[in-house]
Amino acid sequence: MNMDFERKLPIPMEVKAQYPITAKVEKTVRERRKDLIRIFTGQDHRLLLVIGPCSADREDAVLDYIERLRRVQEQVAEEIMIVPRIFTNKPRSMGEGYMGFLHQPDADEKPDLAKGIVAVRELHMRAVEESGFICADEILYTENYKYIDDIMGYVTVGARSVEDQQHRLTASGLEVPVGLKNPTSGDLTVMMNAIHAAQQPHHFIYRGWAAYSHGNPYAHAVLRGYTNKHGQSLPNYHYEDLIRLIQFYEERPELKNPAVIIDTNHSNSGKDPFQQPRIIREVLENCRYDNAVRKIVRGFMVESYIEDGRQEVGGGVYGRSITDACLGWDKTERMILDLAEML
Ligand code: PEP
Ligand code: MN
Repeated sequence: MNMDFERKLPIPMEVKAQYPITAKVEKTVRERRKDLIRIFTGQDHRLLLVIGPCSADREDAVLDYIERLRRVQEQVAEEIMIVPRIFTNKPRSMGEGYMGFLHQPDADEKPDLAKGIVAVRELHMRAVEESGFICADEILYTENYKYIDDIMGYVTVGARSVEDQQHRLTASGLEVPVGLKNPTSGDLTVMMNAIHAAQQPHHFIYRGWAAYSHGNPYAHAVLRGYTNKHGQSLPNYHYEDLIRLIQFYEERPELKNPAVIIDTNHSNSGKDPFQQPRIIREVLENCRYDNAVRKIVRGFMVESYIEDGRQEVGGGVYGRSITDACLGWDKTERMILDLAEML
């Protein structure tokens, strides 16, 4: 191979032994996971709101942001379950640029993966410990999930990974709800096949082991918009899209717990984060109009941070995204309160 091996990294068991979760985190994770699963089985009618920056770029700003969410959560506890987004590894369209907190626990310094795996675990632990939330991340590198599998609440498989076998099989071995996104091409059959695969048990290689997964009955759809052959962004959160998704689920009666989360940014907003409150309003309107839509829509995924918009790496503005542009805090708080009011 034309590669240099920099160092052997500690295995998940070693990192967990060195940075164990507290009894408080263990209890929060156990209880909140049950709550979240009840949303996916339809026993809890609250909407799920997975919300936070596109990338968790620095610990202080992410924890500050989550503390703001915690205060809002108290006000909307009857209507909404908030799960903060702490996305620590970023899929990049061209494989370059900022690759996430895992690669660069300090975005202004050079990559350090040994530091990164510990920093990711510590950030997830602190977030749960200090806020009482369970949090979400994306499994970009399937094998790394084992470093945080005792802390996670919700997981996504991204648009660029959803067609990949190892992601699908790993999703089938997770004990938390996993959202399978539609691919960037928009082909919903790819996403439906991924949901099928994730709900089945499998026998495969994971971290050097021959392993069995048990199948994940809470694997579900996430619609994030798509790009056409001219590279233009197109939405897939409209009424017709949701009806089509319901039909896809009906054509696959083997699938358990039909559900969709609407990702309001990415190609759905055309990367304009300020469209997100409007998109939520439109989807809720369609939920009111058609009970079948209301039944399948379990919530939203929103890209939001302390400051509006985005900046380049090194831009230095605290709480402003260095990947996709986000909705800032004031607009976010308004949006969550409005959302609760509409329910
Ligand atoms: C993201 O959630 O920031 C992301 C990269 O999403 P997608 O996989 O839908 O592009
Ligand atoms: Mn993003």
